[in-house]
Amino acid sequence: MTKLAIMGAMEEEITPLLKNFTNINKIDYANNTYYECKLGELDVVIAYSKIGKVFSTLTASTMIQKFGCDTLLFSGVAGGINPKLKIGDLIVANQLLQHDLDITAFGHPYGYVPGGEVFIKTNDKLKNVALEVAKENNIKLIEGTIATGDQFIADEKRKDFIKNTFNADALEMEGASVAVVCDALDVPFLILRAISDTADMDAGFNFDEFLETSAKNSADFLMKVINRIQ
Ligand code: SAH
Repeated sequence: MTKLAIMGAMEEEITPLLKNFTNINKIDYANNTYYECKLGELDVVIAYSKIGKVFSTLTASTMIQKFGCDTLLFSGVAGGINPKLKIGDLIVANQLLQHDLDITAFGHPYGYVPGGEVFIKTNDKLKNVALEVAKENNIKLIEGTIATGDQFIADEKRKDFIKNTFNADALEMEGASVAVVCDALDVPFLILRAISDTADMDAGFNFDEFLETSAKNSADFLMKVINRIQ
């Protein structure tokens, strides 16, 4: 690893991270702000992309292709599907998919387009470091499938569709697009999320209440992972 990319989708997701880094140099590029900084000797670039698959694709791609990052870590919040995931709990993705990608009219499965794959696998090495760090610190971390789409899910029916179609454990709006970029450019990546809501009727309300604390849970744990891989 020579240069590390750290991403969130929203400002609240990177604010608790930024304070851990030094020599911060703000760069405006492509309608976004990138924070070049240092952790000891390590070069780091931090940014939040804005919400959704398109913005997160742009940011991940920029961090790798313009800033030269060769490892990417994502920290943020998600809606829980797996009942083992309570608000505040952490999940690390072992695979991700786009739940709203739909050309099923042509006989293809949900989440599939020709030339792509439904599930994008994550990097085992980084995921295993996260699992080890969790174990050593006695922190609950579940490994599972994360479903991504350009929709805030606050609806039991849509949640059940995502659960039953992909056997997903959590859902959010950026992970799979970041995964597609990193996979295509051969950059090891980690998608870490803390649960802010359970994607049901109360999701909007819970999200607002728990965004900050859950985003911090994810950020604090990610710092432990970074200190290990550095
Ligand atoms: N309150 C924000 C919008 C948040 S959208 C505003 O008004 O600007 C939800 C964000 O958190 C996305 O970045 C997504 O990745 C994640 N997320 C958390 N819970 C989610 C859910 N139930 N459905 C979809 N995304 C969710």
